[in-house]
Amino acid sequence: MRYWNPLRLRTLLAASVVFSACLLFHSSFANSELQAQTGREQSLADFAAAQPIDVHVHVFKTDPAFQALLERLHLTLMDILVMDDTLSYRKQLEPQISDALALVRSSHGHVALCTTFDPYKFNEPSFSVDAVRQIDRDFAQGAVAVKIWKNIGMEIKNSDGKFIMPDDPKFAPIYQDIARHGKTLMTHVAEPDVAWGPPDPSDPSWSYYEENPQWFLYNKPGFPSKGQILEARDHVLAENPDLRMVGVHLGSMEKNVDDIASRFDRYPNFAVDMAARMEYLMIAPSAKVRSFLIKYQDRVLYGTDLDLVATANVQETLEEWQSAYARDWKFLATAQTFDYAGRRVQGLDLPKPVLEKIFRTNALHWIPGI
Ligand SMILES: [Zn+2]
Repeated sequence: MRYWNPLRLRTLLAASVVFSACLLFHSSFANSELQAQTGREQSLADFAAAQPIDVHVHVFKTDPAFQALLERLHLTLMDILVMDDTLSYRKQLEPQISDALALVRSSHGHVALCTTFDPYKFNEPSFSVDAVRQIDRDFAQGAVAVKIWKNIGMEIKNSDGKFIMPDDPKFAPIYQDIARHGKTLMTHVAEPDVAWGPPDPSDPSWSYYEENPQWFLYNKPGFPSKGQILEARDHVLAENPDLRMVGVHLGSMEKNVDDIASRFDRYPNFAVDMAARMEYLMIAPSAKVRSFLIKYQDRVLYGTDLDLVATANVQETLEEWQSAYARDWKFLATAQTFDYAGRRVQGLDLPKPVLEKIFRTNALHWIPGI
């Protein structure tokens, strides 16, 4: 009679164990995929129900799939123009302004425009007058805000060879004009601390400086310190109490919410957006961030810095947008924990009235007309 060969039995057993483990792994993998998918859809549905306003995006093309996403998510955007002499399209104001106005007009009310002016013309005698004339024309066409960028403080020099700062007297007529029209100044001045070095691959912004070394100032003498630039920004706030200012990217005070709080206490005309700095809030002590957002619930605006460039694969880009919105909603609105960029993140579970302000009504108050 046949008897069981122990070796064969062991092989059979081992094979069946491996087989069922595979099955199990496969189904749990499929399950967690499914859960992630439904989790994202649930987050996006809740996000859409808040009728969110993202005050900080850069969109360079119109597209039916993009428009459909805005409608599906009940989403309003503020498209922000930037003058950047390192990129050919962003070097000139035109066609940036006309392209953006075309986007606004085709968006059925889903996109508003934040214009800018050309700071590279700073040393021309008619600089201030020209800038005011141009932004007034953009206001007349519907622009709701004006942006200044980090090239003020970190790149452009005056005729004496000194870096121009945000509180230079040549900017004063521009700020006064924005205030007089009841519009909002969006300021991206300075950069995350890591830009002043030393290199820190653990910093959420580090990869940006690897790709854009011109903004990495470590061991580059002669540049203003971050403190000097923020002090000049604060000076603008003090000098223009009627000017509403939103410091984008957490007002470049990404490392410690106490720094933001002290500005809020000093300058009632100051708010911040969260664009591209949510990761800093995710890695900070969550109880502290939560109480900061509750205490200053009228001063923080939701923004992302998402972009849609002219050459983008729209489908892929829209996937990224939806993942970003779902992730941000999960972080601010739920008590879930999740992994992001190799870190364990605790959701802040903010109260509903606070979420309504951050995701919508603060934008309406700080950027009227949006
Ligand atoms: Zn931006």
